[in-house]
Amino acid sequence: MAADCLFCKVAAGAIPAEIVKQGEGWVAFRDINPQAPTHILVIPREHIATLNDVPDEKAELLGRLFLAAKQIAADEGIAESGYRTVFNCNAGAGQSVFHVHIHLLGGRAMGWPPG
Ligand code: 5GP
Ligand code: ZN
Repeated sequence: MAADCLFCKVAAGAIPAEIVKQGEGWVAFRDINPQAPTHILVIPREHIATLNDVPDEKAELLGRLFLAAKQIAADEGIAESGYRTVFNCNAGAGQSVFHVHIHLLGGRAMGWPPG
């Protein structure tokens, strides 16, 4: 756990969050500032700052994060209507919390290209 990391604290239960599901090595919780009717963040329990920092050995963990997003989309009833998974990497792409997370967004029509 990185001492100054917001999402490490969420994963440890030190900061309250609306947890929707947890699994092996990951936690999913609702975004505090939702950008869609469903906006959930899926994070690894271990601290990894950005996608750039994910080593090849963590391929299985990355896969688990995406499979969690898939399952949660089904649970939320947005699997058929459609949803988006987003990894913002670094500030230029809008990353503001430097602990990797998948945004799972759905429940409304999504524009393309993203801003
Ligand atoms: P990023 O901008 O890094 O891709 O996404 C960070 C996300 O974390 C944002 O969508 C923001 O609303 C969310 N967020 C920031 N602080 C908190 C918090 O304390 N709790 C929760 N649940 N979400 C947060
Ligand atoms: Zn962290």
